[in-house]
Amino acid sequence: MKYQKLIENLNSRNIKAICCNDIKEANYKILDMIASSLTVGIGNSKTLKKMDISNILMGRGNIVYDKTLAKTDEQVKELKKKSLLTDWYITGTNAVSVEGHLVNIDHSGNRVAAMIYGPDKVIVVIGKNKIVGTLEEAKERARNHAAALNAKRAGYNPPCLNVGTCVDCRSIERVCYNHVIIEGQYDPNRMIVVIIDEELGF
Ligand code: SF4
Repeated sequence: MKYQKLIENLNSRNIKAICCNDIKEANYKILDMIASSLTVGIGNSKTLKKMDISNILMGRGNIVYDKTLAKTDEQVKELKKKSLLTDWYITGTNAVSVEGHLVNIDHSGNRVAAMIYGPDKVIVVIGKNKIVGTLEEAKERARNHAAALNAKRAGYNPPCLNVGTCVDCRSIERVCYNHVIIEGQYDPNRMIVVIIDEELGF
């Protein structure tokens, strides 16, 4: 089975995992997992935007807290807080090691907070390009690859955007105040990694 070693290692850390061929299959499986009566928080993710998961969930009746749909800074703040206490949380991650670590960089920290505690269940969606061999490679990917591209997407201009690598800046444009490694789950029924066999996000 493709991704077998990764799936075995995630399972050994109390994290479930499923594989999907493409975005369409992933959306189908995610919608099947989440009842339409439940609340869903959404972490900012290029992959989730491409899947259009927030609009699909809202279209069938779920209450969705997605900060990227806010119109004002106050709404952003409110949606970030509300998404911490939802039934489900759906997010991407910045790198996954075949050893089973989920490595994340985060600006204000709301996304990693929800991944760690709050929502009853968490779905982490990854494209195959997020998978690397070891924890060190995953940390390297998050810091020296994903951080700058996330900064660009969010309209920030930290040094890594120009230098091409992290310089451990203290810039006010810094986008990675939080580096979080998820090693596993206490509750074996809480977290599910959805692996999509496509290149998605950065
Ligand atoms: S510390 Fe600064 S330079 Fe390094 S990844 Fe973060 S924002 Fe970029």
